[in-house]
Amino acid sequence: MKVHIDEVNCSGHGRCAKYAPNVFRLNDEDGYNADRGQTIEVPAGEEANAKLGVKSCPERAITIVED
Ligand code: SF4
Repeated sequence: MKVHIDEVNCSGHGRCAKYAPNVFRLNDEDGYNADRGQTIEVPAGEEANAKLGVKSCPERAITIVED
C-alpha cells in the first residue's frame, strides 16, 4: 500500500502523524508533512493506521495509491 501527500493541499495540521506516527513524518520546522509532494510506501502492518491518518486530514491531502 502506498499513499501520496499532496504538496499544495497539506496545510500543516499534523493530524496524520498523530494517528499514524510510523507512516507520516512531520517537518520539524513548520509542522507540515515531511513527504509533501511524494508517494510513500506504508510499512507492513501499518495499513489501518495509515487509513486513519488519511481520514484525519482536514485538507484531504492524502490519497491511497493502489498498486
Ligand atoms: S493532516 Fe493533512 S494537512 Fe495536516 S500535516 Fe498531515 S497531510 Fe498535511
